Amino acid sequence: MDCLGRSIDIGSFRGIAIKVHPSFALLLIWVIYQWGFATGAGVPGVLFGTIVLLAVFGCVLAHELAHAVVAIRHGLAVHDITLLPIGGVARIEHASLTPRAETLIAVAGPLMNVLIALALTPLVLLIAVAHNINQAIGILLYADEISIAGFILYLWIANILLAIFNLLPAFPMDGGRVLRALLSAHRNRLSATRISVYTAQTMAVALGAGGLLIGDYLMPLVSVFILVSAQMEIRHVEIESALKALPVGQFALWEAGGISPDVPLSFATRGGPRDIVVTRNHQVVGMLWRHELLHHLSGSHHEIYVRDVMDRGFHPAEVSDSVYDVHLWMHESNRSAVPVIDNGEYRGIFTGDRLGHVYQVIEERNRAWHFGMLLAFWNRLRLVWR
Ligand SMILES: [Zn+2]
Repeated sequence: MDCLGRSIDIGSFRGIAIKVHPSFALLLIWVIYQWGFATGAGVPGVLFGTIVLLAVFGCVLAHELAHAVVAIRHGLAVHDITLLPIGGVARIEHASLTPRAETLIAVAGPLMNVLIALALTPLVLLIAVAHNINQAIGILLYADEISIAGFILYLWIANILLAIFNLLPAFPMDGGRVLRALLSAHRNRLSATRISVYTAQTMAVALGAGGLLIGDYLMPLVSVFILVSAQMEIRHVEIESALKALPVGQFALWEAGGISPDVPLSFATRGGPRDIVVTRNHQVVGMLWRHELLHHLSGSHHEIYVRDVMDRGFHPAEVSDSVYDVHLWMHESNRSAVPVIDNGEYRGIFTGDRLGHVYQVIEERNRAWHFGMLLAFWNRLRLVWR
């Protein structure tokens, strides 16, 4: 994740790169304190703590891989999984998902932790019998012990907590996505998102206040994290639904009707090198990409025509297509511009710059601030699936 600094590759699973963030090393300091000093166990304690830590993060990794595998099964690309001190993040391609697919991907992670806890349960019961533990609190006490029994109990509790925490119906937790997916069955995505975001924020405020009351300062931090993430999710969905409502034809530039395929390439640089639509008799016949234009102009000097260089494999948008669909297509196909047609006739060109203009229009309309910046930020974050 570039926004968080360089992570170290530690391997891959089915083509998904698995990385560890350098800040992960901070956890080792905690392990030395917690298992070495707090328990008074010294070096053996630290070794034991390291094994516990690796095992817990093995379960976090399994959680993320479960999300990733189900996402891949639904045709989404998974970029990588990064382990951070606060947990794991899987960067999964953003796409319009059916409520069912979104639920399945979201549930897969916590389900993995439930399965691990279930697999450990027979051992936990054996330990409980062997140590005469007949109360839940006893399990908590034994989980601190530096022994195989302590290790198994610790891992069992960790997986139960991972499942519960991630299933909280609050963005950005998996449970928040499930709640929205369930609500989407009866209402539109924007309204479903609003309800799940308000739920998340209410819970976050309660969590933060509760934490302050009992003197736990980690809970208010988690609360702020939920509040901010939830707010960004609602902003994102608001922009998304605004983009879906705007027809691309409204923002296409006429650009003098495009350029003819039969003129010399040097004609295309008039007005500055840029992406240009190639037209003949009001029909789009190709795209002249800026980089191709610059590449050929700096090369040989014999006469080259627009038709020699143009891209015939272009993909036109209809005037009525939404800005959202067109922008998604541009992003996925890595294109900087799209020719816009109306009943087969050229109507204009829609470019990345125009997209910036659309954001401005939305911004003015909603009188919200820094939408573009928020969106750029969110475009990074929304790849992250906790
Ligand atoms: Zn998750």
